[in-house]
Amino acid sequence: MSTRRHFTACPLDCPDSCSLAVDISDNKITRIAASSLNPTTQGFICTKVSRFAKRVYAKERILYPMKRVGEKGEGKFKRITWEEAVQTICGELRKIKEGWGGEAILPYSYGGSNGLLAQDTVDLAFFAKLGASRLARTLCAAPTTEAALGMYGKMPGTAFEDYEHAKLIVIWGANPKASNIHLVPYLKKAKSKGAYIVVVDPKLNFSRKEIDLHLPVYPGTDLVVALSMIDFWYQRKILNSKFIKRYTKGIEVLLEAAQQFPLAKAARIARIDPRMIEKLAKRYALTKPAVIRIGWGLERNRNGGQAAAAILALPAVMGKFGLVGSGYTLSNSSAYRVDPHALVAAPSWNTRIINMTRLGRVLLEESDPPIRGLFIYNCNPVATVPNQKAIIEGLQRQNLFTVVSEQVMTDTAKFADIVLPAVTFLEQHEIKNGYGTYATQYLSPAIIPIGEAKPNEEMFALLGRTMGWQEPAFRATTGDYLARAVKSMAAFEPPLDLNRLRNEKIAVPDFKGGNPIPFKNVMPWTPDGKINLTPESLGDWPYHFSPQKQTYPLALISPATEKTINSTLAEFNLPALYVLVHPSDAVHRGLEAGGEALVYNDLGVVAATVRISDKIRQGVVAMPKGAWRKSSQNGYTSTALVPDHVSSVGGGACFNDARVEVERA
Ligand code: SF4
Repeated sequence: MSTRRHFTACPLDCPDSCSLAVDISDNKITRIAASSLNPTTQGFICTKVSRFAKRVYAKERILYPMKRVGEKGEGKFKRITWEEAVQTICGELRKIKEGWGGEAILPYSYGGSNGLLAQDTVDLAFFAKLGASRLARTLCAAPTTEAALGMYGKMPGTAFEDYEHAKLIVIWGANPKASNIHLVPYLKKAKSKGAYIVVVDPKLNFSRKEIDLHLPVYPGTDLVVALSMIDFWYQRKILNSKFIKRYTKGIEVLLEAAQQFPLAKAARIARIDPRMIEKLAKRYALTKPAVIRIGWGLERNRNGGQAAAAILALPAVMGKFGLVGSGYTLSNSSAYRVDPHALVAAPSWNTRIINMTRLGRVLLEESDPPIRGLFIYNCNPVATVPNQKAIIEGLQRQNLFTVVSEQVMTDTAKFADIVLPAVTFLEQHEIKNGYGTYATQYLSPAIIPIGEAKPNEEMFALLGRTMGWQEPAFRATTGDYLARAVKSMAAFEPPLDLNRLRNEKIAVPDFKGGNPIPFKNVMPWTPDGKINLTPESLGDWPYHFSPQKQTYPLALISPATEKTINSTLAEFNLPALYVLVHPSDAVHRGLEAGGEALVYNDLGVVAATVRISDKIRQGVVAMPKGAWRKSSQNGYTSTALVPDHVSSVGGGACFNDARVEVERA
């Protein structure tokens, strides 16, 4: 038996970007563990990826191209050749374009892989050439990106390693224990050195010993809490006026909005004790260095962009920058300064933009032109996108031609007319930039692809050639795209070189003297170098708070868990859907732990098992993000209860605007 160890990295949708050591015996993966290459993640990885081989060799793995032989959604397919698959796809897409125009085709992709090649390379060239509709990717990070871009130009944030130097850490709308596990050791180190740790979240994901203060804000009200902190400082004249004058602009509008939310009013809206907000405001004002880990939980509502902006304003108005362990961390994806045009030369593409959050509605309602062709890759919308019932109905349309490229038979792939086999990250070449940790990593195949699986760049190049298109984008190889990806990044000194990256496997962007320390070695990447406290992206009513109608008594949140990465791995890691309920809400409804319940609203009904815990605040229930239909007794999951309206800033999905009732089944 031949055994070898292979070094690669994890490209999944997670801030940490671990370096991996994969053991292989007789071309079969036997162990996935951490390698020491990424200095921030060395030593351990999550249990999700350590068990990823289960997906690679799953009986549900899609090994060959297939065409549907049963009803849509039934999951009955027959094997075909790649040749037949691409000829069928190209023939159908051509017919749709001729009959309805290119915009009747919708490419649909999201974060199944965060690699540079997996998305917006050849796929972009393919759909641009078709004149397809364009997709606004809004499931996550759209509102926070708009806010951060407008205010700081997406300046790189505080490195996780520097958290251990902070004296105050605020974890706002994030759960590092589920989806940023390499921050946790730094939190522990900081705590052991006396740091004060605050969590702002309707669900407490830490033990009471691990933190010092918990503000269980009601979903969708983070904005008013942040504004009331600013008002608190303003009324007491303790804003850092020197810093504000020198480094910011647009304070007037922010202060005007903040004055609308004195402590008592904000606390009433957020349904928390006003003393909690006061305690946090005082602590933050008095402590240096102070850092805020801003997560994506706070943006999943109609006020998401405004909330992100108000929280991003906190360090600005108090001048909490310039020291190791101060500032904030949101997404660091901009740190690599990737020029997307260097990756692929796509023809100009100015077709309509469709918000991915509204997929169900778009498929069901007659738009102009109606969607007749849907090409889904890196994504499982039936499990992850709001208004699940509408999506399922839409995918059942007989006059819709659907292609799904996938690794395993997902809830979405079952509705495809043609299914194409996709590689996993253990079977491909890729380049991954961490959006939490600062590292560019080279991935190479640990094993040869299973069955006839192909990487996206190869699949779309083949489709382009089958269309008869001559553009270089469809002739380029994976190696060409790797070289382009490396060249597209401007953050390295000396410039990144593919051979060096291939050999060393990792490179760290240069911030002139170690990790980025905002207002020391990095400044806002805005045109004038200042923090814009009222960016245009906040619209005509910046910092406007819009309450969500309380149509049902409980707010439903669907946060990430330690079981899945979005919906990836939920096929075996999340076998039974549950709803987490506060003890008093449970008593009131006669719910018992382990009993069956129905969670419902006007959009649908979801069957789930009851879990009871005081870690979730009263008036709020939680269901896990990314669950598959088979986990629920009635075949629906939390997204069936989520409305498909979008936030005013960034058009983001509003998962946490779901209002529901729960009753014993
Ligand atoms: S999902 Fe995150 S924690 Fe897990 S291996 Fe990948 S990067 Fe590391």
